[in-house]
Amino acid sequence: MQATGGDELAAVKTYFDTAGFERWNKIYGETDEINKVQLDIRNGHAQTVDKVLRWLDQDGGVEGRTVCDAGCGTGSLSIPLALRGATVSASDISSSMAGEAQRRYEAAVAAGAKAPKVTPKFETLDLESCSGRYDTVCCLDVMIHYPQDKVDGMVSHLASLAEDTLVISFAPKTLAYSILKRIGELFPGPSKATRAYLHKEDDVEAALARAGFKVTKREMTATSFYFSRALLCKRVK
Ligand code: SAM
Repeated sequence: MQATGGDELAAVKTYFDTAGFERWNKIYGETDEINKVQLDIRNGHAQTVDKVLRWLDQDGGVEGRTVCDAGCGTGSLSIPLALRGATVSASDISSSMAGEAQRRYEAAVAAGAKAPKVTPKFETLDLESCSGRYDTVCCLDVMIHYPQDKVDGMVSHLASLAEDTLVISFAPKTLAYSILKRIGELFPGPSKATRAYLHKEDDVEAALARAGFKVTKREMTATSFYFSRALLCKRVK
């Protein structure tokens, strides 16, 4: 894996506008032209998205609520949230990803999905630049690209945007996953070009607590090549 030279933001943006877009657009899409590892990651990621949608449905649903999806990728979460009637503000540091999310939303409506009252907004923006206040803020599988000190700042900023609910997911740092990651680094693929950071759940939870949030639901999704811990967090009143 390639080092990011200390400027993760610029390196991650360049990656997801170029080779990373090619790779992840396929993984998050429906094409059969993916290998077994990519298929495993697609299935694992779909489980995380389904879990988060289920949590939000159980939590009273998102219809009429404002949702910020920071680091929206190709819209895997933003689009179903919008189709459930949420007012969605989706953004991504990569214009290729944000543009693809917009295209997929329009394709879903053209294919017969009922358009929501409020059209979702997709824009190119790093999450540190997101502003406003939303009922719910989501940020799935983005923190893996950043070291813990940067993640502390991200959690604090995302929390400042969230009225009551914050949903995040990250790759947890356990001994087993640290060993797996090391093995993966010995066999780099041509387009796995950013560093992957694992995060200790305690560190993430401490950042959430400092930002005034407590974890109310947590669950792990683990397939052979996809590992993601999702947390549903509520503002402490
Ligand atoms: N959240 C989406 C999902 O679960 O389908 C996409 C996950 S993908 C692994 C990571 C995404 O985070 C990429 O689209 C990337 O461009 C975006 N990203 C990385 N760093 C970001 C940042 N600082 N601000 C906003 N988006 C970021």
